Amino acid sequence: MDNTKNNKKNSNKRNLYISIGITAILLVIIGVLLLNMINNNNKDEEKNISYTELIKQINEQAVEKIEMTVGSTSIKVKLKGEEEEKNAIVPSTQAFIELVQQKVQEGNEIELIQNQQNIFLKIPSTLLSLLPTLLMLALFVLIFKMQGLGDKGKVYDGEENKSDVKFSDIAGLDEEKKELVEIVDFLKEPKRFQDMGAKIPRGILLYGKPGTGKTLIAKAIAGEAGVPFISMSGSEFIEMFAGLGASRVRKLFEKARRISPCIVFIDEIDAIGSRRTSNSGAESENNQTLNQLLVEMDGFEKNETVIVLAATNRPEMLDKALLRPGRFDRQITINTPDVKGREEILKIHSKDKKFASNVTLKSIAEDTAGFTGAELANILNESAIIATVNKHKEIKQEDIEEAIKKVTVGLQKISRVVSDKEKKLTAFHEAGHAIVGRFLNTGDPLKEISIIPRGMAGGYTMYKSNEDKFYRSKTELEERLVGLLGGRAAEKLALDDISTGARNDIQVATQIAKDMVTVYGMSEKLGPISLEDKENLEVFGQDIEDVIGIEVKTLIDEAYKKATNILTKNVDKLETLAILLLQKETVTAEEFEKIFE
Ligand code: ADP
Ligand code: ZN
Repeated sequence: MDNTKNNKKNSNKRNLYISIGITAILLVIIGVLLLNMINNNNKDEEKNISYTELIKQINEQAVEKIEMTVGSTSIKVKLKGEEEEKNAIVPSTQAFIELVQQKVQEGNEIELIQNQQNIFLKIPSTLLSLLPTLLMLALFVLIFKMQGLGDKGKVYDGEENKSDVKFSDIAGLDEEKKELVEIVDFLKEPKRFQDMGAKIPRGILLYGKPGTGKTLIAKAIAGEAGVPFISMSGSEFIEMFAGLGASRVRKLFEKARRISPCIVFIDEIDAIGSRRTSNSGAESENNQTLNQLLVEMDGFEKNETVIVLAATNRPEMLDKALLRPGRFDRQITINTPDVKGREEILKIHSKDKKFASNVTLKSIAEDTAGFTGAELANILNESAIIATVNKHKEIKQEDIEEAIKKVTVGLQKISRVVSDKEKKLTAFHEAGHAIVGRFLNTGDPLKEISIIPRGMAGGYTMYKSNEDKFYRSKTELEERLVGLLGGRAAEKLALDDISTGARNDIQVATQIAKDMVTVYGMSEKLGPISLEDKENLEVFGQDIEDVIGIEVKTLIDEAYKKATNILTKNVDKLETLAILLLQKETVTAEEFEKIFE
C-alpha cells in the first residue's frame, strides 16, 4: 500500500519536471508567435477598419466586396472606389453572414466570398520551421498521456460547459421533465432542501435508445439550474493502459466537487458499469473503474450538490451495485417518441426552416414511426440541404421524402455502376420481400420498392409504418422473419443461386429469433424464462444453450419455408415485379397493386 503511494509521489514529481519543461518550450513558441503578430499588426495599421465603421460603410452601400474564411472572424473588405482591401474582425461569422444576406436581399450589392480555410498559408514561416520540433513535442505529450504518467492535471478530465439548453428545447417527455424539475430546484437552492432534511437523489439513470434525448435532458437540467455541466463517455474510460480508467473517474469527480453545484453526465455507462464477473485482463481493469465510480458516489458529503446523470441503452448489462440506494437509485426510461411527440420534436427543429405550404409536420410525424428525436432533427436538416441542392425556394414534400430515405436507407448512389447481373439479383431479392409481405397478415403496407443502390444496400423495400407499437405479438414477430427472409428465398427460387445481399436481412432475422427465445420467452420448449443474462444461463446448466440454438434455428427455418411457399405460389407475380423493377428501377405501391389485379 505504502509502496504504491511512494511510486505515485515519484511519478508525480517526474511529471512536474516534464510539465515545467513543456511549458517553458511552449512559452518560447508563444513568444515568437506574439512578436510576429505585433509586427504584422504594426504594418497593417492603416489597413484595419473597425466593426462599427464596417457596418456604417455597409449601410451607406459603400462596400463592394467581402471575403471571409470558414471558421475565422477575421475578414477582408473592399470599399467602393478604393484600391486596397481592408481587414476587419467580426464578432460572429454566422450573424454577420446573415446580416450581409439581408442587406443583399434589400438591394445592397455586396459580393460575399467564402474561402475554405488554408491553414498552411496562415502559419508564419517561422512557425513552419518549428514544425518538426512541435511534432516531436506533441508525440512526447501523447506518450505520457497514454501511459497515465502525465497524472497531475494533464489528464483529460471531462468537458466542462455552461449549458444554455432549457426544458422548452425538449419536445414531448412531459412526465420525465416534471420529475426532473425538483432536481433543478435542488441545484438552485440546495440549502432549502437540506434544512428540511430532504435527501435528493445522487444519481439518475436514463434508459433509452441513442438519440432519444438523454444528453439533451442532462444539459437542460444544468441549463435550467444555471450550473456547469461536465460530461464524459463511458467508452472513454476504457483504456488500454491499466489503472487509467479509475484515475479518470477520480479526476472527474474531483473536478465536479471543485465546481459544485454541477451536473456530471456519463454517457454509455454500460461501458464501465457492466456486470463484474471474473478477474481476468480487460475485465479487471473494468472492475477497477467501476469500483472507483462506486467509491466516488458513496463519498459525497451531504452538503455537496453534485448530481450524476448517466445514460445507457442496455440496462440489463449494468452491475446491480450501481443501482443501490445512494447511487443511481432513480431510473427514468426515455422511450422513442409517439406520433404526437414526433410532431412536437419536428416543430422545435423546424423553427428556422422554410417549408412549402402543402408540407405538414403532422404527415411527416405519421411517416416516421420508431424514429428518435435525433433522427427527426437529422431528417429536417437533410431536407433543407436537399432543397438547397435542388434549388427549391422552400423545402418541398419531395425533399423531405428524399431526406427520410437518406437517413433510413442511406444516400442514393447514382454514380455506382451496377452490372446487369447484379441488378437482376437485386430486382428478384426486393420483389421477394414485397410479394411475401403482401401475404402476411400483420405486416405494414408497402410504400415503395427500388433497385437503386443506397448506402450499403443494393436496393430497398419501404413500408408505410404509421402506427406506434409498444408490444409485438409472437405472430407478428414470426411474420417479420418471413418477410425478412423473402429476399433470400426469391433469389434461390428464381435464380437458383444465393448472394451476399441478404446479409443484413439474415442478421436482423437471427437477432429477432434469438430475442424471441431468450428475452420474450416465446419458445414452446423453453417456456417463459428470461435467458438474457449469463447468470440465468448458469442456473439452467450447459444443456440449455443447445436448446436455445435449436429453437432459434427452428424459427428461422420455418420462416424461410413459409417465404418460399408464398413465392412458389406467386412465382408469376415475382417475375412480373422483377421485370418491372428492372425497367423502372422504382415501383410505387399503386403500380405494385396493379400486378395483382
Ligand atoms: P442521446 O443522448 O439519447 O443519444 P441526444 O440527447 O444526444 O440523444 O439527442 C441528439 C439530438 O436529437 C439532440 O441534440 C436534439 O437535437 C435531438 N432530440 C432528441 N430528442 C429530442 C426531443 N425530445 N426534443 C427535441 N430534440 C430532440
Ligand atoms: Zn433484403
